[in-house]
Amino acid sequence: VAKGAGKNQWRRYQRHLHDEMVERLELRSALGHAVSEGRFLLHYQPIVDLAGGVAVGFEALVRWAHPNRGVITPDQFIEVAEESGLIVPMGRWVLEEALRTVSEWRRVLPSGHAPYVSVNVSVRQFREAGFVEQVRAALQHTGVPPRALMLEITETLLMKDDEQRIWADLNTLREMGIRIAIDDFGTGYSSLGYLRQRPIDVVKIDKTFIDDMVASPQLVDGIVSLARSLGLTVVAEGIEDPAHRDLLVRMGCPLGQGFLFSSPLGPTEVLAWMTGAAVAV
Ligand code: C2E
Ligand code: MG
Ligand code: MG
Ligand code: MG
Repeated sequence: VAKGAGKNQWRRYQRHLHDEMVERLELRSALGHAVSEGRFLLHYQPIVDLAGGVAVGFEALVRWAHPNRGVITPDQFIEVAEESGLIVPMGRWVLEEALRTVSEWRRVLPSGHAPYVSVNVSVRQFREAGFVEQVRAALQHTGVPPRALMLEITETLLMKDDEQRIWADLNTLREMGIRIAIDDFGTGYSSLGYLRQRPIDVVKIDKTFIDDMVASPQLVDGIVSLARSLGLTVVAEGIEDPAHRDLLVRMGCPLGQGFLFSSPLGPTEVLAWMTGAAVAV
């Protein structure tokens, strides 16, 4: 009986692997069409001044308007986009679209309240020749000042890659006046010490640390004070609980994002939020 059961289990496992492979191939092919047909859209999540409750910027987050699955979030396709290289043309569209949108916001909103936009970039995009030039050109033809653009690069991806070249490009971008953020900080193995002397302006503390904050505040507290001593700005990610916000304010963490303030919004909802939200939080 045991032998037969083992065999069945093995067959089930093989069928499962096969199904997964087919699903991945289908996803890759559909994603290819999405890129050529421009089936993406961006949502924007406010980055909030924790003490004042006002949005200072918005993070652009890509969505895929899938023909039969509706609007889907990156956890369902970003990995395949990375592996296939489709992240490169997709990322180019994201950058252009985010800059077009922020230029519109800045046209409409009073200049003292003009937000910046923060765009996630993949290491794959840096590996393509001409990424820095692409950013420069996009800023130029959208008329967005470099200060209104922040680029987010995840810690784990950065550590894995050809570091020297990427740091050199980041340095050039930063000299142009663009701000650089390390995303999901704490999930990789880099320390803040490693970030010393690097061309970085902002550290985004990963949500997992914010979730654990009441039980173990020391870690977040340590990151916040070290980052500050290095002259870096801190953004706490994934804040859902007002108690977490209060604790972060007491720790001196200046900025945060999370469902407590707002989930990612459509581009026109952002304008409504900007004019009405300061009192809501
Ligand atoms: P991320 O850059 O760390 O973005 C934060 C993610 O956390 C977003 O998920 C956001 O919707 C979600 N989030 C924000 N606040 C909360 C909260 O309070 N609670 C919870 N549970 N979640 C919250 P999303 O939009 O699904 O994006 C997932 C990841 O996909 C992003 O993580 C980023 O790494 C990647 N991504 C998104 N857009 C792009 C893009 O245009 N290019 C690249 N290369 N990657 C992107
Ligand atoms: Mg991000
Ligand atoms: Mg993050
Ligand atoms: Mg993330």
